[in-house]
Amino acid sequence: FNTERFGQHILKNPQIAQTIVDKANLRPTDKVLEVGPGTGNLTVKILEKAKNVTAVEMDPRMAAELTKRVQGKCVYLSVLISSTDRLLLERPEQRKLDIIIGDFVKTDLPYFDVCISNTPYQISSPLVFRLLSHRPIFRVAILMFQREFAMRLVAQPGTELWSRLSANVQLYSKVDLVMHVGKNNFRPAPQVESSVVRLVPLNPPPPIKFEEFDGLGRIIFSRRNKMVHATFMAKGVMEMLEKNWRTWCSTQNKMIDEHTNMKTKVEEVLGSSGYSQQRAAKMTLDDLLKLLSAFHDEGIHFA
Ligand code: SAM
Repeated sequence: FNTERFGQHILKNPQIAQTIVDKANLRPTDKVLEVGPGTGNLTVKILEKAKNVTAVEMDPRMAAELTKRVQGKCVYLSVLISSTDRLLLERPEQRKLDIIIGDFVKTDLPYFDVCISNTPYQISSPLVFRLLSHRPIFRVAILMFQREFAMRLVAQPGTELWSRLSANVQLYSKVDLVMHVGKNNFRPAPQVESSVVRLVPLNPPPPIKFEEFDGLGRIIFSRRNKMVHATFMAKGVMEMLEKNWRTWCSTQNKMIDEHTNMKTKVEEVLGSSGYSQQRAAKMTLDDLLKLLSAFHDEGIHFA
């Protein structure tokens, strides 16, 4: 295992670890999912507040260290109290902790109420989207990311960082910035600065097919400072939309009018919805949803 490859930057500032856990507002009944516990600096603090923790850790050496640390805690408790009390009082942290050794991206996830994670930044995107598609919907996630990624998650339309990622995540959740964390709070210090965000999934989720919304976003944000009209006129885009339209017609048993001109059809949707001369960078979630629905009304799909 290579420290860099697995992003093993251990959070060494206990105050920051405590703030991360506090921000989750854990309840004694909570089941917590922790991704990448490392040596357990967050885990031991979560165990103090929650019913149990499932930690997914890829590096078996880290998992072993965490097990040892939590076992150690038990022994410590046992020597402090008399042997009869021990049976009653002992609530071994060890029994509250399940460690799954494996890659989070490929692991089946258990039920959880809360997710807390300081993971390697390579898996930031898969982490967010796996959490958002997880069912049943969890209550809250407190997640540490590379600062730029975190700032894109919370970015608002019209700002420099507003992007496909921002729109996708904000369609399904409320995200806000919890705090910035400087690189010197980690050992070894990473190259980049970090930030912590709180992510609260919308429950119930909006009835929008992710692939459709993301497909539209992929086109719109491919040239975020261009007018929407120009972006749609790109050859590849038009071909894809025509292909999708044909597929849709056949699944709906609709006759395909071979005289249909896709370019005209798309221009009509853009014109009547009023987004033709809009720039992607300024489009709000609401704008994107309205445009998506206008395309759907014409049988034009993105996935
Ligand atoms: N959470 C600990 C902390 O805050 O001190 C450790 C943080 S360290 C940045 C990331 C941890 O995630 C490491 O222990 C690493 O081995 C583990 N990890 C890396 N890739 C992973 C993956 N795909 N699935 C699960 N754990 C992973």
